[in-house]
Amino acid sequence: MTSDDAFEYANDDLAAGGLRLDALARAHGTPLYVYAGDHVRARLGRLRRAFAAAPDLLVAYSVKANPSLAVIRLLARDGAGADVVSGGELTRALRAGVPAERVVFSGTGKREDELAAALDAGILCFNVEAEAELEALSRLAAARGVRAGVALRVNPDTDARTHHYIATGKRVNKFGVPWEQAPDLYRRAASLPGLAPRGLDCHIGSQLTSLEPFAEALGRVRDLALALRKDGLPLDLLDVGGGLGVRYTDERPPAVEDYARTVLEALGDLGVRLVVEPGRWLVAEAGALVTRVLYVKENRGKRFLVVDAGMNDLMRPALYGAQHGLVALRRGGGSVVADVVGPLCETGDFLVAGREVPDARPGDLLAVLGAGAYARSMASNYNSRPRAAEVLVLDGAAHLVQARETIDDLLARERVPDCLTG
Ligand SMILES: *Cc1c(COP(=O)(O)O)cnc(C)c1O
Repeated sequence: MTSDDAFEYANDDLAAGGLRLDALARAHGTPLYVYAGDHVRARLGRLRRAFAAAPDLLVAYSVKANPSLAVIRLLARDGAGADVVSGGELTRALRAGVPAERVVFSGTGKREDELAAALDAGILCFNVEAEAELEALSRLAAARGVRAGVALRVNPDTDARTHHYIATGKRVNKFGVPWEQAPDLYRRAASLPGLAPRGLDCHIGSQLTSLEPFAEALGRVRDLALALRKDGLPLDLLDVGGGLGVRYTDERPPAVEDYARTVLEALGDLGVRLVVEPGRWLVAEAGALVTRVLYVKENRGKRFLVVDAGMNDLMRPALYGAQHGLVALRRGGGSVVADVVGPLCETGDFLVAGREVPDARPGDLLAVLGAGAYARSMASNYNSRPRAAEVLVLDGAAHLVQARETIDDLLARERVPDCLTG
């Protein structure tokens, strides 16, 4: 661990912002998500400094990475906007105090009620992905007597070289419009009464660990932007999406300063408002999932640590084969090669498979690192497991920002029809 880490050992106990995680686990139970708020703030500051040369930058935090109202609020207080992909995320962003003029709305399948809600809120820009969506949005906007700001999401057909489930910028992915069709669609947008086309958008994937795919995609965006301008079309905004990777175990993602240089080299001279949509990079490393060891067992020479967090709390290992760091809250024990598995009835229910992990005993506490993004936000109630609580540590104090669900919460909306109860 380095000084840039959100979690550090104080003597031999893992802590965030000076607070010991074992004390938080005792107070709030396990599994428990802990977020180091100071780390999130520091990341936003570093991102802004990296883009200092951009005359007009909007950091639109990608809410889906970690939609906690407190996390959104923390970022919004420091000037961030929000990138939302649903009406639900739009509501969250607005409730957390993100001004509508700092909200961009992305997503392949926006429903009309979601478009209408965003129009009524007066958001900055819709990142549109299809001609039919342009038409629907124009109709809804015109009926309200407004013009919707629109960026066309182009699919630059670049290989993000990341897990194929989180690559979004290849020709074969569902995302965006093929870049060859972008000029025609942009012209079409400019001809529609309810739209004010403002620029282009591209997001090529997530957890990118090299700059080349970004450079390739941004080169295409630049060429398109210049061509649109040459045709006299309005263009004052370019949205470069998110996707900058983080270090979970031994990845070597580019430094944010190098990422910013790549973006500015491609687009910095176009005199447009730049929008970046980081999610993971802002919050992933600030989060830990604290879990307690229930049992240790050996099956035919293979060792398993059975813990109280599972794939419903952290889906990334099962979904993407993701590798997360795993440490003991109390440092100093030995290590052992084992699978760390949850209590769910699925073979895919593992947090770590076949790696060196702390040689823990039942009752010991462990922390899965890198759990600030796409962890709680992807959590489910599978196996009727209530979702875990979230704690935000900020300025040396711990705040419960989401209470643990109860089984009554899970059952509250269910009904057994009378005909079955007679
Ligand atoms: C998910 C997403 C992001 C954020 O991606 P990260 O890899 O978390 O930075 C940004 N923009 C869009 C459109 C997305 O779908």
